[in-house]
Amino acid sequence: MKQTAEPKVLRDPIHGYIHVSEQVVWDCINAREMQRLRRIHQLGGDFQIYHAAEHSRFSHSLGVYEIVRRMVNEIKELRDGLSEFEKVTVMLAGLLHDIGHGPFSHAFEAISVCSHEQYTVSIILQDTQIHRILAAVDARLPQAVADIITYSHPNDILNQMVSGQLDADRMDYLLRDAYFTGTSYGNFDLERMIRTIRIDKQRLCVKQSGIHSVEDYIMARYHMYWQVYLHPAARSYEGMLERLFQRMKDIYRKDAQALAQVGMFHPFLADREANVEELFHLDEAAALYGLSLLRSHEDAVLADLARRVLDRDLFAYLTVQDEAQAERVIEKVKQARYDSTYYVFCDHASQMPYSPYQRNEEGHNIWILGEDGTVRELSMASDIVHALCREKLKEDRKVYFPKALLESVME
Ligand code: CA
Repeated sequence: MKQTAEPKVLRDPIHGYIHVSEQVVWDCINAREMQRLRRIHQLGGDFQIYHAAEHSRFSHSLGVYEIVRRMVNEIKELRDGLSEFEKVTVMLAGLLHDIGHGPFSHAFEAISVCSHEQYTVSIILQDTQIHRILAAVDARLPQAVADIITYSHPNDILNQMVSGQLDADRMDYLLRDAYFTGTSYGNFDLERMIRTIRIDKQRLCVKQSGIHSVEDYIMARYHMYWQVYLHPAARSYEGMLERLFQRMKDIYRKDAQALAQVGMFHPFLADREANVEELFHLDEAAALYGLSLLRSHEDAVLADLARRVLDRDLFAYLTVQDEAQAERVIEKVKQARYDSTYYVFCDHASQMPYSPYQRNEEGHNIWILGEDGTVRELSMASDIVHALCREKLKEDRKVYFPKALLESVME
């Protein structure tokens, strides 16, 4: 593998420095599809609540790359057991794993016929700058990187490093999102984790002496879900974006011409797969410009939803116990003459801190390697995690509606 003329280091608040010494990694970082991620927020709706959470998918992608790079260099079995080609492939998979994301992450994905993983694979395999950089190094490289991202690489360890239970993706986003939201719950001891990871029978595991850092990591996930990822105001913002896109789709179906000014959304409104060029041009800057044009659209519902999203005039919410209670809220919204297709929605969130999956999905469990060489699934090795797994599923059911109706809904 060709090396850069001198090692490159990029300052990073989570990892101190990101180290790059392979030319192909450096070239991918500088490719236009990668630079586009500077214009996509890492957290779809959470920067509406946590005002400093403005970090981009670009910085997260660099962080995932750095954790993978450290794993292949610092975990002895990986350093000695992987080929140079495999090492560079898995580092690139870490770097490129989010490259197909659209604006506002999940809200946007909800209206798209393709998932961000499918778009990621398209960007790696089709005619793009990234693809040309990878293919110029080795004709097999684009496919090998895509295989890791789709969890289908023949060397399963590589898949687990990017998207298992102890993967570099999750480790970076927990630490990064905790840092930029200013919540301390997401912290755990990454140094200790990397130091205690071992490979046993083609699976990543953690030495018994590292179990406390794994327990911390599980708790970090649990707290971050409820405090950040499932924050009701973030869900309100994302739910409103979904309704706004739905309104656009409903208008587009009847009269595409009525949305001629927001061409950036057309492939998605037409329910077809966007090509890599269309996807490239749809970043959050383009999407927000589109929304600002829609503020003055002749369709009153569309203009109102665009205004609400841009001005952060978020829907209020009520926690409900069951369907019947939700129905009563929906009825109130209808009585107030709002179109209930766009002005009210229900959202049911649930989250387990950690759940051991089926035995045959071994890559999706966390394994603890005992001093005697035996391997146990985490909830069997940790009293804390065992107790968490016995807890019943934590659930949260909410109904969202315009703030102006808050008093009448509470009656
Ligand atoms: Ca990610």
